[in-house]
Amino acid sequence: MGNHLFDLIKARMPAPTAPFAFLDDGRAYSYADMVAVSARFANALVALGVKPGDRVAVQVEKSIEALMLYLGTVRAGAIFLPLNTAYTPAEIEYFLGDAEPSVFVCDPAKAEALKPFAEKAGAKLETLGVGAGSLLDKVNAASAEFADVARGADDLAAILYTSGTTGRSKGAMLSHDNLASNALSLVDYWRFTKGDVLLHALPIFHTHGLFVATNTILLAGASMILLPKFDPEQVFKYLPKATSMMGVPTFYVRLLQDQRLSKEAVKHMRLFVSGSAPLLAETHREWRERTGHAILERYGMTETNMNTSNPYDGDRVAGTVGFPLPGVSARVTDPESGKELARDEIGMIEVKGPNVFKGYWRNPEKTKAEFRADGFFITGDLGKIDPAGYVHIVGRGKDLIITGGYNVYPKEVEAEIDEMPGVIESAVIGCPHPDFGEGVTAVVVAKPGAEVSAAGIAKALEQRLAKFKQPKQVFVVADLPRNTMGKVQKNLLREQYKDIYAKQLKAGG
Ligand code: AMP
Repeated sequence: MGNHLFDLIKARMPAPTAPFAFLDDGRAYSYADMVAVSARFANALVALGVKPGDRVAVQVEKSIEALMLYLGTVRAGAIFLPLNTAYTPAEIEYFLGDAEPSVFVCDPAKAEALKPFAEKAGAKLETLGVGAGSLLDKVNAASAEFADVARGADDLAAILYTSGTTGRSKGAMLSHDNLASNALSLVDYWRFTKGDVLLHALPIFHTHGLFVATNTILLAGASMILLPKFDPEQVFKYLPKATSMMGVPTFYVRLLQDQRLSKEAVKHMRLFVSGSAPLLAETHREWRERTGHAILERYGMTETNMNTSNPYDGDRVAGTVGFPLPGVSARVTDPESGKELARDEIGMIEVKGPNVFKGYWRNPEKTKAEFRADGFFITGDLGKIDPAGYVHIVGRGKDLIITGGYNVYPKEVEAEIDEMPGVIESAVIGCPHPDFGEGVTAVVVAKPGAEVSAAGIAKALEQRLAKFKQPKQVFVVADLPRNTMGKVQKNLLREQYKDIYAKQLKAGG
């Protein structure tokens, strides 16, 4: 038995001198460099005592070395466990305690604060910065030859913690074949070839930048321009050298605000992909007008890798996430009974396929609760499949509002508000209401200088929505809270507005 994922990467490698990554400091990594440096990382980890199946937890800034640490961990037969760079020491304490890694690698600047937590969890602490750190010293002294540790298709390659907006984060266990099969699918579906150059501006602690972007490039034998983070200056500097970009919707919104975005600026590009959060139909339309490109929207999650995608050829329909990828089955069910629903009916999206994870780390009850007996995973996303087969997402199940016994899908209300002149976007949430259980509440972002009022929005909705769907309160704000992947944090909004109806009652309103 070989090493399932890395064998595949090696088997599909282009010429050793072919470029793998172009860095912002002018350095370039060839495929031969990728193999040699990841071997050095694997050797350094084994020398630290890392054994097959051990977890290597990592909270470091984005760098080529961090990507080599990922590959070195896989080659050493261990499990890569990346952590969001925004996590505080108290959060890191939880993850280390839960995952019990044998090694924890952190930024040199954070070592002092995190040392006690690494010790408590029984992990050796190493540091890795951009071109610095105790682990890098060991790596530089290690051999560039490494015999990859045997790992089968079902052995774990990574654990990614979910973002945890509903309670504590859970570790999603991803096998070698979960990652390999999904990346192979995407190479094919999105037509990646050796000639492609991906503009990589996503973080690499999340499935999007780490697996969708990096594994797809590796399995296509293509190359990437690795940017430390999303920065429009950098994007415009490197766009002429790229053929493709993967982004979250906020990337596209930000680039649209820039005068430099034009057909000329993107003339070398063949593909723009969006995911991780809903892309507004208006962003899709504006992007098409300005650049001539239809953004290809896809849908995935930490637990499942990518599930669906709009087509490469054929209509990329704004507001939809396309068709199930080859090998992936998707269905929509009644959340209560689990019965499959007809086309166009809204319910729970469930998926099954080689992309779907092996369960939650050390949490068999939660794993059991989220799988059906026939192996489908209950995603927690509500949506429908239209008669043409396109999947539509209407929101997370937990965001569903139940008001006076009626179900209100926030997306339906948001879509009406977003169409109004002067509105950029909106988030509709349910807040505790003494009479209705929950009250529909709209938080709206207006264009700078636009005359948008809460009363005006409420009035306009009277003509468009059934009474029970109309917001009982509308707030106009400067922006919506978002996490690093561009997702609107409705949990924060619910917290912020949780008392409004109780207060209203007190005030006699
Ligand atoms: P994460 O595990 O952080 O990748 O988050 C996964 C969740 O992001 C999914 O369950 C969806 O709720 C959401 N998501 C991902 N892609 C899309 C998309 N294209 N449109 C709408 N929601 C999306």
